[in-house]
Parts: sequence; C-alpha cells; structure tokens
Amino acid sequence: MGVIMKIGIIGAGLGGLFSAAILSKNHQITIYEKLPYIGGRFTNLNYKGYQLTTGALHMVPHGANGFFGQLVEQSNCGAKIINSNPDGLFRINNTNYGFEELKKLVSFKDKLKALKMLTDLKLGTIDKNMSFGTFLEGIPIAEKVGNSFTGWALSLSSYDTPIDEVIAISKHYHKFGGPGIPMGGCKGIIDALETVILKNGGKIYTNYNVDKIYVPENPGEKCSINDDNEFDILISNASPLITQKISNLKFIDNENMPIPSKGIKISIGSKNKLINHNSVVFTTESERLNGFNQPSNVDKSLAKEGHNLIMAHATQIKNNVNDEIDLVLEDIDDIFANEFVGHKKEGYKILAIQTYRDECPVNHASNGTDVKPVINDRFYLVGDGVKGKGGIEVEGVALSVLEVLAHLNKLGIN
Ligand SMILES: Cc1cc2nc3c(=O)[nH]c(=O)nc-3n(C[C@H](O)[C@H](O)[C@H](O)COP(=O)(O)OP(=O)(O)OC[C@H]3O[C@@H](n4cnc5c(N)ncnc54)[C@H](O)[C@@H]3O)c2cc1C
Repeated sequence: MGVIMKIGIIGAGLGGLFSAAILSKNHQITIYEKLPYIGGRFTNLNYKGYQLTTGALHMVPHGANGFFGQLVEQSNCGAKIINSNPDGLFRINNTNYGFEELKKLVSFKDKLKALKMLTDLKLGTIDKNMSFGTFLEGIPIAEKVGNSFTGWALSLSSYDTPIDEVIAISKHYHKFGGPGIPMGGCKGIIDALETVILKNGGKIYTNYNVDKIYVPENPGEKCSINDDNEFDILISNASPLITQKISNLKFIDNENMPIPSKGIKISIGSKNKLINHNSVVFTTESERLNGFNQPSNVDKSLAKEGHNLIMAHATQIKNNVNDEIDLVLEDIDDIFANEFVGHKKEGYKILAIQTYRDECPVNHASNGTDVKPVINDRFYLVGDGVKGKGGIEVEGVALSVLEVLAHLNKLGIN
C-alpha cells in the first residue's frame, strides 16, 4: 500500500461522497458540508408520506451499468439500481411510442432523412459546431422528440445542446443502455455511501461552510481549509465558480465560463397510475413539459400507501419563472385530462413545485460548458460543473470522479 494521504473534501453531494467512499479505503478523509444534511441535489425529502427530492427525479441515466453504476460497484456500498424497461417512451397524439415505433409515424421521405441522420450521428460524420436542434431541422417529429429528450436529460432546449455532446451521449447509450431507479430513491445511494465512508473511518461535518481554500505553490507546504485544517489533497464538490471564489487559484477561463442549466420540477401524488412501467415518458408535444416518470413503480416506499409518485420535469426557457410554471401546470392538466377522462382534478394532487437556477441549478455547467476536474496534482473538482463529455447529469458527475481517481492513480494514490 502507498502513502496514506490526508484528503479534505468540500461539499457532500454525489461527487464528494463517491470520491470519499472510494478514497477512504486507503486514506484519511474529511468532508465539510455547509448544509445540515448530506447528498446535495440527490437526496430525499419526506413530504406527507412521499419521498420527494432535493433535485433529481430518482433516476440514474445509464442505470446499473453506466459510469454511476461503476462507482457504486467500486465503492462497494451495496446500493441497488433497477434498470428500466423500456428505456423510454415518446408521447405523440396521446399515445406512447417506443423509439423504434416512431418510424411508423414518419413519411417515407422523412424516414430516409432520419436514417441518414442516425447513421451520421453514430459515425460522427457531421459538422461538430452545430446545435442538436439545427441538426434535427426538417423532420418535425425528430425535432419534438429531440427537444423533449434534451429537456428531460440535460435541462436544455435542443438548440442549446451542442451536437458533439449528443454524439458522445449516443455512444454511451449504445454501450450502457438506458436509465434505472435506485432502491430507496436518491437517498438509497447517499445512505449507502455514508455508511462506507464512516466504516472506513472518514469524517463528515455538516453545517460547516468552507469560505477559504488555500493550495500553496510550494509542495512542502500543506493545503488548508478555512485556515486551520491542513491536508495533502483537496477535492471540491462546490461549483467551479464558488470554488474559484473561495480559493487562492484562478482556473476558469473568462472566455469559457460554465453556463448553468435551469429547470422546474413538479412532484405529483396520484391514486391512479399514470404509467405502468419504470421508465420515462417524454412529452414531445407539450408546450413546456419535457417528460415524467413514476419512480414508485420500482420502489413503493417512495409514495404514500396506495398512491403513486409522479415526477415531471421541464427546462426553464424564459426568464419569468411564474409564467413558466403556469405552462408546465397546463401541460400536466392536459395529460391527466386525456389519461383519466372525467377524473381530471380528482385524479392527482400537486405535492410540490420546485425551481432550480442560479446557485441551485439543474447542472452547474450545462453540457458543453464544463470546466476540467484536475486543477493540479493537489487540487481537484468533482460534480456537475466538471462533467466528462457526454455525461448526462449524475453520469457526468461520475465521470468527473473517475477522472480525478485516474489522475490520483497515476500519482500512485489509490
Ligand atoms: C430538478 C432536477 C432534476 C434532476 N434530475 C436528475 C435525474 O433524474 N437524474 C440525474 O442523474 N440527475 C438529475 N439531476 C441532476 C443531479 O441532481 C445533479 O447533477 C447532482 O446531484 C449534482 O451532484 P454534485 O456532485 O454536483 O453535488 P451537489 O448536489 O451540487 O452537492 C454539492 C454540495 O456541496 C455543498 N457546498 C457547496 N459549497 C460549499 C461550501 N462553501 N462549503 C461546504 N459545502 C459546500 C452543497 O451544500 C452541496 O451539498 C437533477 C437536478 C435537478 C435540479
């Protein structure tokens, strides 16, 4: 075994906890979290018998087999992710279609165009500077399907999504498959990671705000947090912008600032099942809503007894958030009206409306605007401001952790 390092971690979100769970096996880990709870935007909020969340929709983009799943394995935390089947359905004219079935809905001419598009996407033989929205122009169904996908998965309109991110996502999808839902929801993962960290002797301090990070140039000098805690290595799970603000180093290029992605999440309780599978329904024709899932189909404990938990997500497009919420609520009304004719209002209850922007966005860096995780051999970033290419949400967080671990490994630290 190599030298035991003292590693300080700023923030107990997924990135910080995954790093801590894996590194605490051989090193001394201390995590400082400013909030009273751990998990950041990936944990549960108990509300009237439902497990709502601080952010995520209880869903892992590539299920048990993706980058996130690899970290769950590597950390040996024992958390369980149930893969979804089907991968996702697309709602068109009040009917839900699988991806392959969409072909039935397009004309022969558009089918040929779409086939060429898919081949180009797979082979990467397209202008890498265009947006996904521009790429899809000319086939109306593809435009709607693409926009609902990027809205749900990245909280971006298709026109704000760089095509090379979609190419990388498509490669990951073909390698790992579609989404999954963790047992216990988001908190199922967080609890499992916390158990490993504490068992390995790691320390977690909550209600501890880090307002100063010092990484000296002189390798003989120690790094420090808030002046009095000394470490060999620091890993920040705070956003790149916050980390830069509180640290003595400048690592964000003014020309390439991370741009956060904004979103609106509506949690719904319903006696009726809106869907009978464990995946996403992409709402391709809604004005603002991008999709919804029903995670209680996988784990009943996520909903009040005899009820279902439905989570609906929309990208915030315009600045007036109240108008945006109204659009999403109208979309939800339409869907329930069509699904449960005659039961409209009684069929469901809005449990919570949560908006995400500024300091608490859907992603600290929207895909394509991420910062690099390795600042130098002693200072690293993890989280959704430093996602790896084609990393959807927590898969991107996992990619950042994998990159940091790989760099440390090269230095003989593992
Ligand atoms: C509405 C919504 C829906 C989403 N749905 C999904 C989904 O279904 N699937 C999916 O994969 N992803 C989803 N995401 C994204 C996912 O939740 C986030 O990408 C992920 O949780 C971010 O993890 P992180 O490692 O960046 O840490 P964060 O969650 O950002 O945690 C960072 C932690 O650092 C702490 N911190 C910050 N500054 C300091 C400081 N100065 N001192 C001490 N502590 C500090 C914070 O309090 C926080 O706890 C969703 C997000 C939102 C908002």
